[in-house]
Amino acid sequence: AGAHRFSAVISRIAEEMAARDDHGTPADYIPMLAGVDPRRFGMAVAEPDGTVYGVGDWRQPFSTQSISKVFALALALSLDGERIWRGVGREPSGNPFNSLVQLEYENGIPRNPFINAGALVVTDRLQALTGDAAGQVRELLRTESGNAAIDFVPDVAASEAAHGDRNAALAHFMASYGNVTLPVPELLAAYFRQCSIEASCADLALSAGFLARHGVRADGSVLLTRSQAKQVNAVMLTCGTYDAAGEFAYRVGLPGKSGVGGGIIAIVPGECTLCVWSPGLDRRGNSVAGVAALDRFTTLTGLSVF
Ligand code: GLN
Repeated sequence: AGAHRFSAVISRIAEEMAARDDHGTPADYIPMLAGVDPRRFGMAVAEPDGTVYGVGDWRQPFSTQSISKVFALALALSLDGERIWRGVGREPSGNPFNSLVQLEYENGIPRNPFINAGALVVTDRLQALTGDAAGQVRELLRTESGNAAIDFVPDVAASEAAHGDRNAALAHFMASYGNVTLPVPELLAAYFRQCSIEASCADLALSAGFLARHGVRADGSVLLTRSQAKQVNAVMLTCGTYDAAGEFAYRVGLPGKSGVGGGIIAIVPGECTLCVWSPGLDRRGNSVAGVAALDRFTTLTGLSVF
């Protein structure tokens, strides 16, 4: 620490987080996530030029889970443009990430791509387009981070499948409306593989860099148009932290996306990308120290989209 523009800020935040006594509870819906020490904490900053630095456990790989939904959406938008929005909306759900309730009233069209139902629609489309949705997400993360070791964790995917009744119900229900097209077992396998990808704060902060660079990839090529990058950031702001997106926008003021592995990515458009990891979650499924650290970051730096 010391050499980069936010080194002092994130070092201070790491000290503050270590002093907290409320760390939340790691996800326990699958055994693979339940055993992690909730006091672990890492935070990374990636500059638009590809410089990355961090504090604490910033190089420790963790389960990306729902953070993968951002990369799947970006790929679907880049390959398929506006068509993806025929099957999924862009409104916050106000309901838990795995909720079924709104689907019946909205003809099998999920509220947004960052709750499980909406992510299943995106993965269905990406799988139909590429034949390997999870592999495409892995490849995007590898290429943007420069880390070819990023990979699926088969035990995590298998554990998701073994406890997958809720996601199966979501997929079957949407299939009854024709809003997913693959055989449900193939769709679920792709979705669980995608969720099982392990990556570190450094990897994810770098991988999300195209969202701070208005759609431009690490090698200078265009993944998303400027307008599409804005759209993804907007959906992250309004829907990226499930039924706590209003509170997240209020506290942090940045587009963000959380996962039940305890990671959160956040974008400061034109400035930098952030990733925090701390496995203890609140009752909505967001990392307690992760949200607190991002809150402190925008408070101490004055950076936000507002
Ligand atoms: N794999 C998890 C699930 O489908 C992802 C959910 C999450 O990170 N919120 O339940």
